[in-house]
Amino acid sequence: MKLKINSRDVEQFSKFDELIFDKDYLTVNVLLVPLQLIDEIHAMYISDIDKVINGKLCPNNYQMIFNTKNQNYKRDLASHLKYCQGPETAKQVKLDHLLKPYYPHISNNKLLQKLVATSQSDLLSPTLNYITFDFETVENIINEDNVLAQLEPLSVASAATINDQITTLYFDLRNGTDFIEQWISQLFEVAIKVNEANQSNIPEVQIKDKNYIPFKPQVSVIGFNSKKFDMNLLLKHLIKNKTKIQYMGSTTQAKQTIVSHQDYDFDLRFIDILSFIPPNNTLKQFVEKFGTKGIKLTKGIFPHGSFNYDNYNLVLGLTTPFTKDDFYDKLNNKNISNEDYEQYVNDFTNFESRWEYLKHQNIRDVTCMINPINHLIQITWEEKVDMLGCISLAQIASQIKYKYCYDKFDINASYNIVNGFDQFKVTQYWWNNKVKGYINQDEFAKRDTINNVTEDDIDWIRDKVTNETCHLCHNKFTKENKPTLDRIDNSIGHTKQNYQLACQICNTVKADKDNDISKLKIQLMKYAIHEHLPMTINNESVYNMLKECMQGGLSNVYHQCNLKGITHINKLRYNHVIKTITSYDNQHVVTHILDLDFNSLYPSVFSGIFNKNNPYTNHQIYQAGGLTNYFKCTSNNSKQKARDIIMNDDRFNDKGQLFCVKIKGHIDEKHINSHINLAPICRKLTYNNSMEQIGEFMYNKMKSQGLTVDKPNTKLTSLLSTYNQFMCFTNYI
Ligand SMILES: [Zn+2]
Ligand SMILES: [Zn+2]
Repeated sequence: MKLKINSRDVEQFSKFDELIFDKDYLTVNVLLVPLQLIDEIHAMYISDIDKVINGKLCPNNYQMIFNTKNQNYKRDLASHLKYCQGPETAKQVKLDHLLKPYYPHISNNKLLQKLVATSQSDLLSPTLNYITFDFETVENIINEDNVLAQLEPLSVASAATINDQITTLYFDLRNGTDFIEQWISQLFEVAIKVNEANQSNIPEVQIKDKNYIPFKPQVSVIGFNSKKFDMNLLLKHLIKNKTKIQYMGSTTQAKQTIVSHQDYDFDLRFIDILSFIPPNNTLKQFVEKFGTKGIKLTKGIFPHGSFNYDNYNLVLGLTTPFTKDDFYDKLNNKNISNEDYEQYVNDFTNFESRWEYLKHQNIRDVTCMINPINHLIQITWEEKVDMLGCISLAQIASQIKYKYCYDKFDINASYNIVNGFDQFKVTQYWWNNKVKGYINQDEFAKRDTINNVTEDDIDWIRDKVTNETCHLCHNKFTKENKPTLDRIDNSIGHTKQNYQLACQICNTVKADKDNDISKLKIQLMKYAIHEHLPMTINNESVYNMLKECMQGGLSNVYHQCNLKGITHINKLRYNHVIKTITSYDNQHVVTHILDLDFNSLYPSVFSGIFNKNNPYTNHQIYQAGGLTNYFKCTSNNSKQKARDIIMNDDRFNDKGQLFCVKIKGHIDEKHINSHINLAPICRKLTYNNSMEQIGEFMYNKMKSQGLTVDKPNTKLTSLLSTYNQFMCFTNYI
């Protein structure tokens, strides 16, 4: 099998991603060999995988390799197989013990927290100083038959922008085969100034916590489309005695590579600007779309195919321009236009040799990125998010979204919930558990427990809880806000004299030594509860249930083409006598492509803006906040409780509660025609679209349209029944 494709453009997967649609299908191993020279990938069938990888692969998850030559091989494999449950067990989540508000825009940055807590966040500015880089490569033909070739770095250029002043570096093979090492050592020197410029923009604040370790500063080194290829070239040169590398991403895609050097008090952070913009942009498009100077980038043409590692010096040393034949593209069997060639020859007159022209192109490519990157930094900062403090567009989007949730947050306001919550009632059961827990805690910490509170102190604690409030936030204790004993002196145990009452939240958050930051965290927590903002999940059953709810993908689109004013509206009709479905056009003509029908894409309903087709929660879709309750319907009582939530009158107004429920659903045959045009149950299902399953008409139609048939297919599908299975539903779906 041959596939003509440029291996640099192929989406690559890590070997840990595994997708098995149907375990009954035979799984075969295929070796993919990219051939750079002719831009093809060859696929070879492997009959014995263990021979190829020189070891035995775990047959369950294909992730562990065992050395068959090791004397303990059989024992190791046997003991691994005992515990190996297959690929599903590879990913395990660790949930929070307590619900925590989700505020990614400030959660990992103590400095930012301190500034927000002290109302000084306007002192902040975005990271404006950084470095861009790019490689040029040359093909190294290793095998004489032109079968094996490898790309080697030919030259490298970088541009540093420091307070809007650009300085560049350039190295190529003429500097020696270690030119990348030379470049990296120079890069660290330039980065000193970049770092200084960034540091001088950071406001000076004191964080009163002796355990606080400020982040090691990072200098961003940004490539264009570097995550797949350039980083792999660079990696082997980065691993040196004095450096340490932290790699994030898969084997073929570097999301972020952090390089630490023991001689420098900052790290270099290699990232790809493509992580910050929508996909499918060339450098030229990037500069033209995102730049502000209206620069039209001329096509940087350079005949990489006309020389190789063995003759590059001879070819590039020439002082004459490349001939037109040098630009001939063997793969696509075509050449550049006469106009482009003339332009090139004209440009070349400014340079002494082909090397100089290469250098010019290389430096131009790194400097032209700076203006569009500056613009991206600036528009991201309009939302007060520091682009170079993020690693992807998705992270920026998440930060902006959650920032809006906390838009009206005021550190000094009161977000205590007084009304509508029952006063906390002290029970003997609750108190006994507390007493036991405190003794365990104190014994574990080797504190004296002789004077500890006892089970007999029930009246004393009941009195305190009724009359006192949290000593940290002065909130009352309710069912939702249970009290805890906060010890005054940490060296003494839980005695009557050594206590203050505190909310569980305040007691946990207070662990932060800086008072301003503690106050901020307590206030953010209260604000999140007060405003029903998103909180993390701490219940495993809830987590698993919600995960099951997650459905994605494109729905089946029955109409391939809808023309305004021409296409008639198409509907379905079920005949329960002959058990067939008829698709028919009615007399009405399509005037607009609207949401929520099968003539358009379904996910458009997942937007928080007003939508009259959604009758629930006042025609708006709300995002879930924190978990308030979880229960299993085991008795008639609990079943009624669930019904009351689902059918609550408030479900149509803003007070409606969001819920997720696992139920069976079914639409009787008699009522199918009322729902057939918009089947209400959307599930991602895997089915085999064979002729028997989907019928001859659809089968042939799909085949003629080039769609996959006779294979298991995963599709977002709309159903009229859950077919006697329990499925997850939320308010909206
Ligand atoms: Zn295994
Ligand atoms: Zn409190």
